[in-house]
Amino acid sequence: MTPKTVAKVDKGGLIVITGPSGVGKGTLLNRLCQRYPDLFRLSVSVTTRSPRPQEVDGREYFFWDRQKFEQARQAGFFLEWAEYADNLYGTPKQQVEDTIAQGKWVLLEIDLEGARQIAQTFPEALRIFIAPPSMAVLEERLRKRLTDSEEAIAKRLAHAAIEMAAMDEFDYVIVNDDLEEAVAELETAILGEETWQKSANSSSGSS
Ligand code: ADP
Ligand code: 5GP
Repeated sequence: MTPKTVAKVDKGGLIVITGPSGVGKGTLLNRLCQRYPDLFRLSVSVTTRSPRPQEVDGREYFFWDRQKFEQARQAGFFLEWAEYADNLYGTPKQQVEDTIAQGKWVLLEIDLEGARQIAQTFPEALRIFIAPPSMAVLEERLRKRLTDSEEAIAKRLAHAAIEMAAMDEFDYVIVNDDLEEAVAELETAILGEETWQKSANSSSGSS
């Protein structure tokens, strides 16, 4: 697989992050954004699912009803959209375009179907798959998160098997076992070995 290291400060673009629900995508991306607040912006999607406790409208997602979502979809509001576990999810186009125009890198945390759409419309986007160490660990993380019903967990696990079967479609596969190692691998995939080593040296120097 040819490394496709992309992120440069003077030029924005798209980075797609896909992987089973509960694998730790949000956790990893929050770490990355905290570390490089001027370089990356996490796209906020629209969803028709209900907010989980702690989730805030406009922060984790924009929570819309199906009718509003459908109208926006028909009006071309979304860069990509998909149905996942009986709910609709979409990436607002304008937000992404504005952020790229500012020279930042937009992180899209989206499902497999959405990632395939972006591969067609933005073939230059870097696509990264986050995998769990095992399906048993994935199930444990979904349960420990205490945010989803048994039914929602079962749907997410069924979907996970489909997503795992498609990981070869991506530029990089990162196994999120040890969190710090996975963050470092994500940095390397996006920013390149040199930058990662610099940041690793500076963080080990300061702690
Ligand atoms: P996703 O965004 O992929 O649905 P989350 O970021 O919500 O997943 O993570 C799911 C759960 O797993 C959270 O409780 C999170 O704290 C935990 N988690 C994430 N990464 C790790 C890791 N490397 N080791 C152990 N637990 C993790
Ligand atoms: P959750 O309900 O667990 O937050 O997300 C369920 C799935 O929907 C995850 O795989 C997540 O990456 C995906 N998802 C979140 N936002 C979007 C989006 O805007 N588009 C697509 N295609 N998938 C999304």
